[in-house]
Amino acid sequence: MAKTPQKVDRAAFIASNPRCCYCAGRRPTTEIDHAPARIVFIKKHGPEGFLFPSCSECNRIAGVSEQVMAFYIRSFDRSACGLDEAEFEKLVSGLVNNAPEAVPRMPPRPSSGLALLTHGIYEADRTTTVPPAAKAHIELFGLKVLYALYYRVTGRFAGSSTRYLLNWAQAGTDAARLMHAAADKWFNEHEVGKRRNVDLGDQFSFHYGYHEAHGFFGVRMSFAGAFVMFGVIGPARPMAKLKNRDPLCPSIYETGKRIKKQWGKRRRGSAPALSG
Ligand SMILES: [Zn+2]
Repeated sequence: MAKTPQKVDRAAFIASNPRCCYCAGRRPTTEIDHAPARIVFIKKHGPEGFLFPSCSECNRIAGVSEQVMAFYIRSFDRSACGLDEAEFEKLVSGLVNNAPEAVPRMPPRPSSGLALLTHGIYEADRTTTVPPAAKAHIELFGLKVLYALYYRVTGRFAGSSTRYLLNWAQAGTDAARLMHAAADKWFNEHEVGKRRNVDLGDQFSFHYGYHEAHGFFGVRMSFAGAFVMFGVIGPARPMAKLKNRDPLCPSIYETGKRIKKQWGKRRRGSAPALSG
């Protein structure tokens, strides 16, 4: 169902959301940001009302990662009926021009397995190798949506007093199923209170829990038939005592700078060697 874009009173929005939710309010809001970014949706038809306060630094630096994610979502989307060739070609040239480090590689050896794209420990056979830079971009994308949803639900900023955990996997894989199971376990262990389903069609849905007294926020997100993500933001101190010490929430700007520093320089040289 086509929807007309929401009219937003810019001044009123900024007045009631004066600080950027992607750098813990360090900088003032100068832009109204869409999260997830519209580019990841078919014909840029993102869900309505997913508007967040952003400074221009955080907003700009995330742009490349959002382009990378848009390419991978369209590439891995199992409900391919929505694939528009012209739109896809735009994404491909955007990827090649703006993030050549994130272009998928041929596999190190022929494999008959499913194309499998995951974060962390679950990798198995695959037909495409996703370079580490692409994973870094996908993580930044996920982190940004996680911060936005955290802000939306709790009214708080993710920052140096909180830690985060973020896992993601290609939809429909064993990795995704394992992740779902792990997420359920997590929810149970921490007795996250409210659990609501917010379904925005097959393009984007999320399922979250927030325990107000303990300050833990958990969310499962799915992007088209392509990716599932599980993210947690919690208070830094108790989270530091968990088995895996999760990192403090960095600002999106810092995260983007790090990606640029690590991968951006290699662009002019020869293609980075992939271990494999
Ligand atoms: Zn910011």
